[in-house]
Amino acid sequence: MGRSVLVTGGNRGIGLAIARSFAEAGDSVAVTHRGSGAPDGLFGVRCDVTSTEDVDAAFTAVEEHQGPVEVLVSNAGITRDGLLMRMGEDAFTEVVDANLTAAYRVAKRASAKMVRARSGRMVFVSSVVGLLGSAGQVNYAASKSGLVGLARSIARELGGRGITANVVAPGFVRTDMTAELPEKRQQEILGQVPLGRLAEAEEVAGVVRFLASEHAGYITGAVVPVDGGLGMGH
Ligand code: NDP
Repeated sequence: MGRSVLVTGGNRGIGLAIARSFAEAGDSVAVTHRGSGAPDGLFGVRCDVTSTEDVDAAFTAVEEHQGPVEVLVSNAGITRDGLLMRMGEDAFTEVVDANLTAAYRVAKRASAKMVRARSGRMVFVSSVVGLLGSAGQVNYAASKSGLVGLARSIARELGGRGITANVVAPGFVRTDMTAELPEKRQQEILGQVPLGRLAEAEEVAGVVRFLASEHAGYITGAVVPVDGGLGMGH
């Protein structure tokens, strides 16, 4: 029988590719959305991950629909780029809230049921820039590297209960987020990627699914790059 999977921000982009990949494997998959509704064939729950109340209500709805969450994929994320000297504090805290504090919210909400079941999988979608840094993305890079400390601490706290927590660090993936980048910036990025192309969302999804699979039962606290070689050595 399939597992109960929840993907935050699974209504589009990388999250949707992840959700579809689990669904194709026969799992019951729920996605959060902020009003767009659920894509065909997936169970949708309305949820802004910056709201603890929304997160709690979303989990309750998912539990009623398909049972306690056994695989949590914390994927929702935003950018609000700007150079440090011009970045307002609201731009910093807003990005950290959506990308990092939200991961704490969903992991905490998922953990009680996982501990009771003595099993569970958590995967956090970070970014290559969390480890490399990125000019103009102090807020985003800080939030994404924060996920590494968060996941590794969960791995230590809950490993004894059969729960794994891992991080996927994509490079540049073809989605709405990268489509916003100016053409010149896209060419600069491609020049630094040994594989010489952007990733497809499905390539990130495959790695997330592997980390949630039986084959990855002895992998926890890992940071797995899916970046075409961009971050090699970090
Ligand atoms: P998109 O911009 O295409 O999608 C972002 C998703 O996050 C949407 O589903 C969006 O929901 C959701 N989201 C944003 N804020 C919130 C919120 N407050 N509450 C609930 N959902 C929210 O991004 P990608 O698919 O490209 O990125 C997905 C993840 O992968 C992000 O964490 C991103 O940082 C990371 N990543 C992306 C890379 C890339 O090259 N694209 C590279 C490395 C990492 P809604 O539709 O309602 O806006």
